[in-house]
Amino acid sequence: MSYVAWFKDLSKDSIAIAGGKGSNLGEMFNKGINVPNGFSVTAQAYAEYIETTQIKSQIEQFLQGIDIDNTEQLQHTAQQIQQLIISTPIPENIVEEIEDNYELLGADKDQAHELVEGTEVFVAVRSSATAEDLPEASFAGQQATYLNIKGKDNVVVAVLACWASLFTARAIYYREKNKFDHSKVLISAIVQKMVNSDRSGIMFTVNPATNVENEIVIEAVYGLGEMIVSGQVNPNLYIIDKKTREIKKIEVKKQEVGLFRNEQGENEKQDIPKEDQTTQVVTDAQIKDLARIGKKIEEHYGMPQDIEWAIENNNIFIVQSRAVTTFKPKKVETTGEVKPVNEGHGEIILKGETASKGVYAGKVKVIKNASELNKIENGDILVTTMTTPDMVPAMQKAGAIVTNEGGMTCHAAIVSREMGTPCIVGTENATDVLKDGQEVTVNATQGVVFRGIMEVPKEETVKHEEHYDTDIITATEIKVILDLPDLAEHAAATGADGVGLVRIEIMIANGGIHPAEYLRQGKVQSYIDLLKEGIGKIATAFAHKPVWVRCSDMRTDEYRNLQGGDQEPKETDPMIGWHAIRRLLDEPELLKAEFQAVKELHDDGHDNVGIMLPFVINVDELTKAKDIMRSIGLEPCKDIDFGVMIETPASCWIIDELCKEGISFVSFGTNDLTQLTLGLDRNNQRIAKLFDEMHPAVLGEITKVIETCKRHNVKTSICGQAGSRPEMAEFLVRLGVDSISSNVDVVDEIRHTVAQMEKKLLLEKN
Ligand code: PEP
Ligand code: MG
Repeated sequence: MSYVAWFKDLSKDSIAIAGGKGSNLGEMFNKGINVPNGFSVTAQAYAEYIETTQIKSQIEQFLQGIDIDNTEQLQHTAQQIQQLIISTPIPENIVEEIEDNYELLGADKDQAHELVEGTEVFVAVRSSATAEDLPEASFAGQQATYLNIKGKDNVVVAVLACWASLFTARAIYYREKNKFDHSKVLISAIVQKMVNSDRSGIMFTVNPATNVENEIVIEAVYGLGEMIVSGQVNPNLYIIDKKTREIKKIEVKKQEVGLFRNEQGENEKQDIPKEDQTTQVVTDAQIKDLARIGKKIEEHYGMPQDIEWAIENNNIFIVQSRAVTTFKPKKVETTGEVKPVNEGHGEIILKGETASKGVYAGKVKVIKNASELNKIENGDILVTTMTTPDMVPAMQKAGAIVTNEGGMTCHAAIVSREMGTPCIVGTENATDVLKDGQEVTVNATQGVVFRGIMEVPKEETVKHEEHYDTDIITATEIKVILDLPDLAEHAAATGADGVGLVRIEIMIANGGIHPAEYLRQGKVQSYIDLLKEGIGKIATAFAHKPVWVRCSDMRTDEYRNLQGGDQEPKETDPMIGWHAIRRLLDEPELLKAEFQAVKELHDDGHDNVGIMLPFVINVDELTKAKDIMRSIGLEPCKDIDFGVMIETPASCWIIDELCKEGISFVSFGTNDLTQLTLGLDRNNQRIAKLFDEMHPAVLGEITKVIETCKRHNVKTSICGQAGSRPEMAEFLVRLGVDSISSNVDVVDEIRHTVAQMEKKLLLEKN
């Protein structure tokens, strides 16, 4: 039996011999795609190794009855098995065959006259599991890669290390979760000539950022591509039309250093010559060549591909290609294209910011104050200065919502996204421009309002996505934000791992009475019952998954229309006024009532409900709140998840002390954190363009907090609007955040982003 198989002898049907990666490479090699040559040390070689050395039964014993959710046990078992493999030498006959073929690889030169004798060349040794990189197994890049290996002894060592990597904790966990039988998954080691890249990068044959199928996206850097994956340099970005191969976009970013291989085979950071730093990394002709190759590979596999490429001396090599399992073609093209049905219609009469996508045509109802709310009938377009939580019932009836004020994190934006209602915010003068009864078409996708009723394609009116990729497994938990108990079932259908934020203000507003009024009237139990009902619905829909309820955070200007709301104090700046934990401690009966509702839910079996304190700035706020929780019979962090929101810069600075006082988790409220860090009113549309959660100051705070929490074993999470931004999700995953909460409408997108990022990080580590 031969223990190696060269690429020329492999094809896509060789998974059982060379694993997913190896068979892919063989397939491409034989289709004339320029992949560096190499061979697979076959899965059968590995199988024979574990049989003849008799370690197979030992491995099976280690894995028997393992509890994969017990992290310590999982890590320990993984280490034991890997150690066993590393310390068990490969039988001599297999070693010889690997070494001979490695030498042959050295003789395989591009130029015929160089075919003189075998020499030692740099190779990459990669593991390729027989259940890996398959379209249905999206989270599979667990096994190792060893780059720049030279010398036959080293190659043999790297092969053994690849075999051992079949038993990393992650790989074991992944197989158990996906119900792969451990003994049926074998591993091949791919030995492939290294390209000494002077330029390299990645290529997606669909646009992963926008899910546009028709675009090829290429990222390119000088030197080795690792710099892209690790995020150390900003790559050039090229977008190409897949059909015409026309270059649609070229973005050149400055690159001052690159990673290059030195003579010893070590990767070394080197300065890029000044004159090259800001020039396009690959030529237009090469971009088109790459796109042509990408298209060919995609056509060959019949599905979008994620490709790694490298250029050495102007020769393009394809180093890897795998299916983009995270790509989901857009079922609904939400371009917001609409056509006028009558002459004179179609004029844009108003512009604003997209808060929730979609298109809707109907009649305007302008709401000047709360007393007019009952004007809204099913399907009306609600137009108002700014929505407040007490408008939610009316918002639920509305077909679309348009406001004068607000940005992405304002109340109207948050709630309309949750409801899937098209919404435009920050138009400045919608309440003047639009008249009661007027017929308009709200194209929220494009942030514009047209005069008259336009023909709206049916897809544009689809409110919710019905399909969710619940089978994608991510190490980072993906949760939802949920404020409307009526939508709990819908939110749970996303397969989310829990609810990272329940804003109880909406259910309070639905009850029509201000919490302080319940106190004044001595009706605390009614308040408790109201909360129990709303939270209970969510806790039921998310049974056995954590549901973090935030204590009330009611700004004094927002709830004036509730019964008793007129007694709220007038403040110059309610945003930084008497609300959240500071108010609840001034009126501890309120905090106690909210805790009591949660305690009673626990007593009824809903012990998945946890508590989160908003707007914390002092440790003693936490201490006092914990004492109140104890006074009603629940021990914080032990009987109940008890966390704080990180939404003030102060909380970031005192994070060490907060952790020492004892919390189960923190959750970033990036809406307030950004507002307070950047000194920007989040509801002011005039400065909305400056509101950016990715500002380095905010990211710096987040980094500090996560690092500190990790030292204290405190879980980290996000529940601000930024958790719905893929770039924030990527940033947080890199820092090792434990969970991310997003809006229901983007859960799937975030899940895909996180899966992709986790995979990237694993590859980076290998
Ligand atoms: C936040 O500030 O990020 C947050 C989640 O709370 P809210 O939007 O309710 O202020
Ligand atoms: Mg907040």
